Amino acid sequence: MAISDSGPPIRRARRLALGALLLAVALVLAGLAGRWAGDAATDKLRLAGAQRLDGYAVSLENLLSKYDFLPGTLELHKDVIALLERPHDEELRDEVNAYLEQLNRQSGSTTIYIVNLDGVTQAASNWRSIYSFVGDHVAFRPYVRDALRGMPGGFYGVGTTNGEPGYFFAHGIYHNGRMLGVATVKVNIERLERGWEQGAGKVLLTDSNGVVFLSSVPAWKYRTLAPLSPEVAKELQASRQYSGHALAPLGMRELRRLDGDAAIVTLPEDQRTPVLSQTHSLAPRHWKFVYLSDLNSVRASARNVFLFALLVQALLLLLVLYLRQRTQTRAQLEAMVAERTVSLREMTQHLSEENSVRRVAEEKLRRAQSELVQAGKMAVLGQMAAGITHELNQPLTALRTMSDNARVLIERGRLEEASGNLATISQLVARMGTLTGQLRQFARKADASLAAVPLEAAIHAALFLVERRIEQERVTFRLQARDANVQALCDTNRLEQVLVNLFTNALDAMEGSAVRELVASVRSAHGRALIIVEDTGPGLPEDVRAHLFEPFFTTKPQGKGLGLGLAISEQIIREFGGELRAEAADTGARFIIELPLAQQGTT
Ligand code: ADP
Repeated sequence: MAISDSGPPIRRARRLALGALLLAVALVLAGLAGRWAGDAATDKLRLAGAQRLDGYAVSLENLLSKYDFLPGTLELHKDVIALLERPHDEELRDEVNAYLEQLNRQSGSTTIYIVNLDGVTQAASNWRSIYSFVGDHVAFRPYVRDALRGMPGGFYGVGTTNGEPGYFFAHGIYHNGRMLGVATVKVNIERLERGWEQGAGKVLLTDSNGVVFLSSVPAWKYRTLAPLSPEVAKELQASRQYSGHALAPLGMRELRRLDGDAAIVTLPEDQRTPVLSQTHSLAPRHWKFVYLSDLNSVRASARNVFLFALLVQALLLLLVLYLRQRTQTRAQLEAMVAERTVSLREMTQHLSEENSVRRVAEEKLRRAQSELVQAGKMAVLGQMAAGITHELNQPLTALRTMSDNARVLIERGRLEEASGNLATISQLVARMGTLTGQLRQFARKADASLAAVPLEAAIHAALFLVERRIEQERVTFRLQARDANVQALCDTNRLEQVLVNLFTNALDAMEGSAVRELVASVRSAHGRALIIVEDTGPGLPEDVRAHLFEPFFTTKPQGKGLGLGLAISEQIIREFGGELRAEAADTGARFIIELPLAQQGTT
């Protein structure tokens, strides 16, 4: 018992453990699938970002390269050289100013100006404006300083005069191998930002110090990617490159560095949402493009693939369970069918055995019944023996007397009287012949050939055998035929035998009755032929009626009744496909023979 008690909990625990393991495996697999999908989506995003960055870099370079040559060409203008040599010639300055103004307009740059070796602006395209650079000291500007040292410079900065940012190109002005000053062109590159704003990601451009000077997000401008070192901050302060801006750190945090120039970072405005950051260096200028893409789509596709993988595994599990269940159910069904087949086979065998036993029993019964019918006939014969003897003795005595008389009458020549005697003798012999014929027929074991039997005729034939008793015992006999010529499908002899039996029983029953009436009725109803035999005897008490058709049931004194008559009669009628039954009538007994109705015209 202990084993069976501890069985189910152990099995349940094992099933639970298996379920947990399956769940863990499913989660791991789904996680891996989600990760893979996330990586693939990130790669796609990186490719798109890299392409954008390439595009931005190319358009920036294109813009800048358009102006690269411009400062260098100014030394070709003789008035420029002349002004640098004669800095106090105001007329000349006006001409150079006008020239620069026109050149600036044509080239699309912001400002063009000329600086002497002391770093003082000699002429400028914006000489008419209130922000005119003419007379300004710009030696502190690194690009001017570099150009004065013989290195053509490029520099992005915020204008100190009007606060406008731009890219400054500077180039030394040489005449006869001697440097006279510096030509500077300022170009506005902020217009590039307008193109960036239309992209999906955020773009920013930083200088070599990590200061953002162009950005698709205006608020990020003049902020730094990382805090500036004190030296750099000091230097920027001195050059006034981003004059008027605090250059505070942007607050971008790197979460994870990916291979190449990519990293996962968070932005200052949303520290919880990771963003993909890609950089692209612009080598000659030491600038750096940063492109930031939203990782939402990556996360969504990773999540979707994770859920999809879970779903697929759940479906697979369901399929496996379903198939297992089906196999089990089929096995159970097959076992059940096999079991049923075996029991059916056993049942069939049992039935066929029973059937053969029944057939043997029926055969025995039929034989016994047939013998009983014979015995019954003999019994009736025995009963009738006295009457028959009497019946025959009387005509025999008459025959002897009449034949003796006939001989004497012939000897005396009274031939006419002798002839009358002989006629009477012939009648008597004929009557005796009929009687013995009937008896022979009754005693014969009949075969069961069925034919249409006229019932009235059968009643008359049966009556003939009991006629004498009817007369002697002063019984009134009536035949009531409601339907004329009703015919039943049966055997005449055996039906007559049944009728004789019923009549004899009625006569026996009425022996002590004051009123003695025997009534036989014939009719047809519902496709059946009916013969009803009624008497005015004592009738059938319940205890008698219950046993009427049992063989050897009799209430008659010994030697008179065998108790076989009704049993045999009932069997005979049943063999015809009919029924014999008894009813208690108002006065006396009523027996009903029901037989299959023969088609009119059947013989
Ligand atoms: P048996 O006539 O040899 O007794 P039956 O089988 O013919 O055998 O009849 C069985 C019994 O049924 C009779 O002994 C009698 O008691 C009863 N019985 C038969 N016919 C009648 C009848 N018409 N009226 C009263 N009782 C009857």
